[in-house]
Amino acid sequence: MRSIPILMYHHIDTVPARDDPLWTLRVAPSAFAAQMRWMAGLGYRGLSMRDLLPYLRGEKAGKVFGITFDDGYCNVLEHAAPVLAQWGFTSTCYFVAAKLGQSNDWDAHLNIAPTRLMDADQVRRWASLGQEVGSHTLDHCHLPQLAPALAGEQIVASRTALETVVQSPVVSFCYPYGDWHPALAATVRDAGYSNATLTERGLATARDDPFALPRVTVSAFTTLPKFLFKCLTRAEDRRRR
Ligand SMILES: [Zn+2]
Repeated sequence: MRSIPILMYHHIDTVPARDDPLWTLRVAPSAFAAQMRWMAGLGYRGLSMRDLLPYLRGEKAGKVFGITFDDGYCNVLEHAAPVLAQWGFTSTCYFVAAKLGQSNDWDAHLNIAPTRLMDADQVRRWASLGQEVGSHTLDHCHLPQLAPALAGEQIVASRTALETVVQSPVVSFCYPYGDWHPALAATVRDAGYSNATLTERGLATARDDPFALPRVTVSAFTTLPKFLFKCLTRAEDRRRR
């Protein structure tokens, strides 16, 4: 069975001091550029979740991988978009719909310097570059901790809000903190999305629930050999479950 890596990035920016609690969530622009160059050189095409779905479903075949960015940081527009354009790759950025133009205040308890999130104009710019706009809820909540109606609101209203910003359908969802359960996946499906990603590690295959897709974490610790190993090792060898 074909296994497809879906890469999970957060920040594409200078890697800060190691005592920053979110140190690992940063990938340096030069490292990101090298990762994309290697995948392109090996004949792989990077795709957004929207573009990747036919491959996941087995309707299309080819050397492809998914590229996703969580939270919607400005540094992704600044540093990742030009690299993606260079290779003609598409990707999905998951935006926190009620926090556009603000910062990652959900990390405030970690006592780190906040990072700016793209505002509505920047989200539109991201979309105009051919990159996908996905939802990461309204305010980066822990969905399983909410009453079902409130969780549903986070899933549905974030989609509507982002569709209003970009004036096109939003079909991809990402559970904040990777927190989910099967009832939430059903809510995501019923809200009109076509896919959703987790933080669970692994390569995706057609066997996976399209509303609970595993991803490959890329962090500041991910050296180039490790990156290639993570991407190119068969799913059957690596699945934890
Ligand atoms: Zn997030």
